[in-house]
Amino acid sequence: MIVIEKPEVVIINDKARLQANLNIDGQRKSIWYEVDLKYKEFLCYERSDAFVVTLLLLAMQKGQNIKCEQVISEQLYFNLTKYLIPFLLKINPDLKEINLICELDNTILNSKREVGTGISGGVDSLSTILYHGSKTKSENYIITHLTLFNSGYYGNRDDNTERFKEYAIQSEKFSSEFKYPLLCVDSNVSNVTKYDFRASHAYLSCSVVLAMQKMFNIYYYASSYAIFDFKAKFEATAYYEYFLLDCISTENTKFISANSTMSRVEKTKLILENEDYLKHLYVCTAGNPPINCGKCEKCVRTLLAIDSMGYLDKVDGKFNVEAYRSRRSINIATMLVKKNKSIFYKENYNSFKDTQTSIPIKAYLLVPFALVNEFIYSKLKIYLSNNLKKEQKKTIKGILKKTTF
Ligand SMILES: [Zn+2]
Repeated sequence: MIVIEKPEVVIINDKARLQANLNIDGQRKSIWYEVDLKYKEFLCYERSDAFVVTLLLLAMQKGQNIKCEQVISEQLYFNLTKYLIPFLLKINPDLKEINLICELDNTILNSKREVGTGISGGVDSLSTILYHGSKTKSENYIITHLTLFNSGYYGNRDDNTERFKEYAIQSEKFSSEFKYPLLCVDSNVSNVTKYDFRASHAYLSCSVVLAMQKMFNIYYYASSYAIFDFKAKFEATAYYEYFLLDCISTENTKFISANSTMSRVEKTKLILENEDYLKHLYVCTAGNPPINCGKCEKCVRTLLAIDSMGYLDKVDGKFNVEAYRSRRSINIATMLVKKNKSIFYKENYNSFKDTQTSIPIKAYLLVPFALVNEFIYSKLKIYLSNNLKKEQKKTIKGILKKTTF
């Protein structure tokens, strides 16, 4: 059994921290969420919700019940036990059935009722702020606060706080330019759980929001895949986010899968049409913010979308467009190879077709080469994941992220 003790708020080095001690397999651990002192009153020690959402997959992997010493929201309990847990059991046979042993509470907490979303500078994040930040008749749904959480993107090691702070600089720049308050939350959720990032990031990021549920009435979680691409697949939360976000909403905080009716190309177009936002776009995985290398997989597929709409000149200076142009034919050939397997490449290919942007003959001629490239790359990934130790994998993964394929 995993026991989550009563959460408490403590002050450490001029920061306020919500923490709960855990007992996992007889080992004492603690999960914490840390904010600037001015946000202390919003740390939600009255519910175990954040901790349960963080530990749900771990408990199901181990087949251990979760016992909470503090109450959890009735709505969360209902959705987890009646919908999310049964769903997860069906999409991942390695997970085991568990019970939540806890008291329930359905009272509405005293809340600031703000509306939040994350600011990473990526396509999903910027397009969400554009779509839900502007004036609208339903004014209670307009974004009031931006956030940045250390909840998995910066790795699972105890020293990831430094990397988190590095990335926070560009989020601070954006927030101050557009006059949004920025809430930064440091946390050790990813260090304790050590989940695979793609399969878990929505759980961990939303757990941070639940730790602050006295602040947020609505939280827009920027969708990665459109609702039309919904899949009951465990390997990425993006496939079933629309369902997941509803399951982990509470009486106090509702999650919305933002821009879930847009393709990534449509989101990119929204940003391209807004120069002020475009200059903050950062999608690169090479790890040198704010420079977009133009070579890594994420840069290339973003540039393919931009290329398909004829806007490459517009992003010169923001991306290393020269690097992309010098490999344009092989980049397009790779899109042709990957379009049947990847949602993003399929959308890019459709955009090339819809806008009638011509695909060079050379790209078609390079398809066999791109196929071989792709085959070697995928075999290499399988070999590495089967034969390397965890630490070695991390290093190789980092190198692959920066590598032009
Ligand atoms: Zn890059």
